[in-house]
Amino acid sequence: MNASLSTRELQALDSAHFIHPFTDTKALAAKGARIISKAEGIWITDREGHRILDGMSGLWCVNVGYGRTELADAAHRQMAELPYYNSFFQTTTEPSILLAAKLAELSPGFSRVFFSGSGSEGNDTVLRLVRHYWSVMGQPKRSTIISRWNAYHGSTVAGASLGGMKYMHEQGGLPIPGIAHIDQPYWVEHGHGMDREAFGKLAASWLEDKILELGPENVGAFIGEPVQGAGGVIIPPASYWTEIERICRKYDILIVADEVICGFGRLGSWWGSQRMGFKPDLMTFAKGVTSGYFPLGGVMVGDRVGEAIVEKGGEFEHGYTYSGHPVACAVALANLDIIEREGLVQRVAEVTGPRLRKGFAALADHPLVAEPEALGFVAGLVLAKEKGGPADGPGFVPFAPELGVGMVCRQHCFDNGLVMRAVGDRMIVAPPLCMTEDEVDELLRRIRYCLDRTY
Ligand code: PLP
Repeated sequence: MNASLSTRELQALDSAHFIHPFTDTKALAAKGARIISKAEGIWITDREGHRILDGMSGLWCVNVGYGRTELADAAHRQMAELPYYNSFFQTTTEPSILLAAKLAELSPGFSRVFFSGSGSEGNDTVLRLVRHYWSVMGQPKRSTIISRWNAYHGSTVAGASLGGMKYMHEQGGLPIPGIAHIDQPYWVEHGHGMDREAFGKLAASWLEDKILELGPENVGAFIGEPVQGAGGVIIPPASYWTEIERICRKYDILIVADEVICGFGRLGSWWGSQRMGFKPDLMTFAKGVTSGYFPLGGVMVGDRVGEAIVEKGGEFEHGYTYSGHPVACAVALANLDIIEREGLVQRVAEVTGPRLRKGFAALADHPLVAEPEALGFVAGLVLAKEKGGPADGPGFVPFAPELGVGMVCRQHCFDNGLVMRAVGDRMIVAPPLCMTEDEVDELLRRIRYCLDRTY
């Protein structure tokens, strides 16, 4: 860190040289990016010394919280001993073997893993694995993957194509061929006037409609986040995933759970699919596997697919320089050790998650809040202009989108010591899993305070 440069000077360098992801770089240059310089526990601190409660765990990833010296020590030890070696040409490294075995132990029915450097790359691998599998099985026509609008599966060409963010498709000339989308199971958008569980079944039936439209013999897999994250914390009704599973099994279509956010305790279970009650064939992971301390992702390969491609598939023509990076794997092992030792998954399931859920439900009395909901350690609410509205509506009157009320609220949060994310007018959080009960209460206090400033 160059302490001799002022914040203004650093911001000028930033806007001159750094194109930020998902950012209007010109608009940002006018006010300057906030420079985060250190962090501890659930708190980040900017260069001017403001402490901010990180309600988003960075980008849904710092599950064990900041300042874990064990992870820095694990990285240092591994870098000093063997900073890099690959697993391409009949070589491997000890941390990558041990991590593969540890992940298999945490994932019944998934004996194998393929490592990538990120979640996006993991979903590129999913596309390759699904098509390779069906080719090995003598059904190469089964190459289409069905996904959902408003899903987020990453930013590479395949990841963004699998995702359902229309603004990404428009700018990138996507999706690539062989990917189809159905509507998301978002009651507020599609379910007005319906019982939630009946709506879950209806939303799942859109998958069957799409399979029949494409022809089951052409469909290889369905991919979904157990709970959509970047789309705005869309928690589907309990009936949704069990019905999706029934439909996929009926037509022999693989199920891919994108666990990049939901994995490693976020929903109060090791995997989000366990919490939602279904059994996928492939699971993409990243983020929480190292708590963001080092880039790492991958795909957990269920035994049906794993046995076929290993026994009959020959060489899998796919891989990344950083597949199984030894430093990333050493950090992941230390991170998983913390999650297990501190019982974070169980704590989210039994103590802090229910407290967050109760606190979110209580926000319903705020004049601006509609549809507050939480599951494990993700939560969201809608900023509403008024409660009520027409009987066939969602039970609230939305703000006009051009007002950008979500962005106004997000700014109030940031200015008042809270990171909360806005997705349109949905305000969402995904706090570090290490939060204590008092810290959950502090998060809820800050949310209410910032909502009061927004209204
Ligand atoms: N899948 C999901 C569900 C995600 O939320 C993300 C990132 O937010 C990704 C994939 C992409 O991961 P990465 O940004 O590590 O490439």
